[in-house]
Amino acid sequence: MENKSLSIVYLEDNVNDAEIVTELLIDAGYDIRMKHISTEKELIGLISKSSFDVILSDFSLPGFNAFAALQICKNLCPGIPFICISGSIGEETAIELLKQGAVDYILKDRLVRLPFAIKRSLEEKHEKEIRKQAEIGLKESERRFQTLAEVSPVGIFQTDATGLTTYVNPRWCQISGLTFEEAMGNGWFQAVHKDDTEKLIKGWVTATETHKPSSAEYRFVRKDGTIAWVMGQAIPEKNFKNKIIGYVGTITDITELKHTEEELIKAKEKAEEMNRLKSHFLANMSHELRTPLVGIIGLSQVLNEELKDGDSKRYSRLILESGIRLKDTLNLILDLSKIESDTLQLNFEETNLTEYIPALVKVFEKTAEAKGIKLTINTGEELLYSKLDKILLNSIINNLMNNAVKYTLAGNVIVDIKKIVDDERQNIEISIQDTGIGIAENNLSLIFEPFRQISEGWNRNFEGTGLGLTIVKEYVEKMNGSIIVESKLGVGSTFKVLFPLFKTDSGNRVKTDTMKEIPKSIPETIKNVIEKEKIIKPLILCVEDDLVSQKVFETMLNKDYRIDSVDNGDKVIDLVKEKHYDLILMDINLTGRLNGLDLAQEIKKLNEYMNTPIIALTAYAMIGDKEKMLNGGCTHYLSKPFTRNDLLTLLKEVLINV
Ligand code: ADP
Repeated sequence: MENKSLSIVYLEDNVNDAEIVTELLIDAGYDIRMKHISTEKELIGLISKSSFDVILSDFSLPGFNAFAALQICKNLCPGIPFICISGSIGEETAIELLKQGAVDYILKDRLVRLPFAIKRSLEEKHEKEIRKQAEIGLKESERRFQTLAEVSPVGIFQTDATGLTTYVNPRWCQISGLTFEEAMGNGWFQAVHKDDTEKLIKGWVTATETHKPSSAEYRFVRKDGTIAWVMGQAIPEKNFKNKIIGYVGTITDITELKHTEEELIKAKEKAEEMNRLKSHFLANMSHELRTPLVGIIGLSQVLNEELKDGDSKRYSRLILESGIRLKDTLNLILDLSKIESDTLQLNFEETNLTEYIPALVKVFEKTAEAKGIKLTINTGEELLYSKLDKILLNSIINNLMNNAVKYTLAGNVIVDIKKIVDDERQNIEISIQDTGIGIAENNLSLIFEPFRQISEGWNRNFEGTGLGLTIVKEYVEKMNGSIIVESKLGVGSTFKVLFPLFKTDSGNRVKTDTMKEIPKSIPETIKNVIEKEKIIKPLILCVEDDLVSQKVFETMLNKDYRIDSVDNGDKVIDLVKEKHYDLILMDINLTGRLNGLDLAQEIKKLNEYMNTPIIALTAYAMIGDKEKMLNGGCTHYLSKPFTRNDLLTLLKEVLINV
């Protein structure tokens, strides 16, 4: 039999009885440590110093009895089982003892029961201890929950399985403005903003049907009328059988966040509105600045051609050059503001750079020649294509070529177009190399910044705005390209632009490696037209409400064409029915009922004008305007201001095809 150790206090004045009990317990397998005492004093002294497993007590003791002993034990060592062992004890006394806290009583003539009574009392004591621990744990967790619920910065709620609220924490009440009682059941719903109830019900119904977590943003209208925006979230609460017994959720006050969001939206709308106004303002400015430039550039050119040598001719030349410079500056500023307002609309089209770039470069031939600079262009025979926006490409090449010629005092400007193949991709490289003043190494990173000119301040020897390269870089990158510069002060600069190669074509073209080989003469077809014109000059209608511009066009054209001008759009339809015009020059922004595009559409409805070219001559020269004109009824487009040459070349080309 296994020995169980047992420390016992035995209150008994009869020594024999104590021995019998000891033996009995040893027989029952206990390893006994017994303190045998008989007085109240001994009892108090003993149990206040040491602890015991069980206390056995005779009923009658010298000077006191089991009731008194029980009280002492309950006070000094509560929880230790107290068993009364008595020779004769009435049933009532026994029951009273049990009531007061004794765990059992044993009659001395039935002492055999004692080991079982001790065993049971120890088991009960053990169970009590476990229960007590569990209660302490429960109380601790309740206290923790209570603290969390009280101080939580978010509102917490709980519902039953049908979604009816059963609990809300103080923060929930604070956010919603409702009391605990008002929130219960469906009560909380009364305080939800009426514009949010529908979405909230829908979300809640779906969540309870699908048993899925849900979230929603909604508003509480508090009793004082203030609004609280909340972010509500709920997840199903399941029991150990995985059955949903309710939902637990939180509400977070997002009122501040919502206000900030609303302010941001307002600020964004305002910024967009300002941007629209800016674009509108730019379009207007562009128009208003271009219209007088038509007069300045056009008439100074005509004047310059008609005047004989002398001061007046020189002055008219200066007016013309100033006008052109003003036009270029205007274009740069407009381009930059388009980039900044991010309103560039790109129109990527397959472009044959092998042929397109030389045509752009050719424009600089005369200026280069005048400065004694040799302009050379090298291309291979293979036609190299990229997908680019032509307007942006024109601006890139014009700016780079303009700089190359401007900053070169003597020597060469060489343009190379070739295919570059590296491990990752194939590119087309356009390199523009000059033997100009060059750029110091420490300035190379600055030149692409807006308004930066290396020769700034008193040292500023060259005209310019410092915007060209900024625009070039932006445009190149917008078309997935890259630009680098290599330069040496006093030796020259090379700007290299790379664009992704789209395709190649072996082509059937003659290799052109110097500008001399680019045909300078007017094509035969155009010559024929000129010959034809000598016999009978084509009749042109010029619709233009700015009288200065009207005068400019007449002066530019009257040698080669017969020209009628009209300043009021309302008269145009009668005029075109009266006479047959070979070509119509159409201003767009007109006084009168109809604008230029309306008129172009009306004219095109007339049978005899179905194939007649209508050229939009307009100061609307922002990106995208050309497309608007061509889609709006005109067949061609020329932006103001333009030179006489621009207009004459276009007219000849257009009339050939009629
Ligand atoms: P700018 O209107 O002054 O020409 P850009 O933005 O086109 O403005 O060029 C910025 C500066 O870079 C110029 O002022 C000039 O100092 C320098 N630069 C640009 N191209 C060249 C070049 N080909 N040779 C020497 N310097 C150049």
